Amino acid sequence: MQKITIQGIQYDEKSSYQQGPSLAPPLIREALNAGSMNLFTEDGITIETSQIEDKGDFKIENYFDIEAITTKHLNAGGKLFTLGGDHSVTFPIIKAHHEKYPKLDILHIDAHADLYDDFEGDKYSHACPFARIMENGFAIKLVQVGIRTLNTHQAEQAKKFHVDVHEMKNLDLNKIPKFENPLYISLDMDAFDPAFAPGVSHHEPGGMTSRQVIDLIQSIDCEVVGADIVEYNPNRDFQKMTAFLAAKMMKEILGKML
Ligand code: MN
Ligand code: MN
Repeated sequence: MQKITIQGIQYDEKSSYQQGPSLAPPLIREALNAGSMNLFTEDGITIETSQIEDKGDFKIENYFDIEAITTKHLNAGGKLFTLGGDHSVTFPIIKAHHEKYPKLDILHIDAHADLYDDFEGDKYSHACPFARIMENGFAIKLVQVGIRTLNTHQAEQAKKFHVDVHEMKNLDLNKIPKFENPLYISLDMDAFDPAFAPGVSHHEPGGMTSRQVIDLIQSIDCEVVGADIVEYNPNRDFQKMTAFLAAKMMKEILGKML
């Protein structure tokens, strides 16, 4: 069995609307260990194992340091799981993964396609990571699920980069393709309907249920080599319900990676 390293990336400087996700990593861990849930996945796998090593949280001042920290943790061996942070962290993380996994598929679960060529003058905004990933050739296949905010520009970008977009308006989880390459999962908490996850900066109604996202993760039958959970904004949460949902998703994704 493979070793998994956990890193927390405390960074939200590239959020376009509200700050808060830099506070997320310790609060998701706190929810995970609060005693309200046990540490078994629904498939009966425990994440209480010496195979998982938590390196703690890293307060980021310079965006480009994220790649170096990620590379260091990847070089320590095994797989990497990241708690963000806003979604801008995913580009430097994938850039680091590309060195180790030149053939990588990505499953991106989000209300937003995050494919802007630039957003408010910033190429590295949290609205842009998947444009940067695709134009650099860091993913063989990008599958997006939960999208419900495509505008003309992003629809064009999706076409240009051959992104397989599964929009919310006609979502059928049976149509999500099988993955052939090592898989990276990027979960933006705003993919969930705000009723399930109010603790996000961008409330976008009409989203996924907790059950749908869990079913999607559980349906994966290829090797998951990396993952992140991003965009949890504690400043917007009620009764920590989004922290507990993020913790549950962390558990299910780690179970898949083990
Ligand atoms: Mn996003
Ligand atoms: Mn989003």
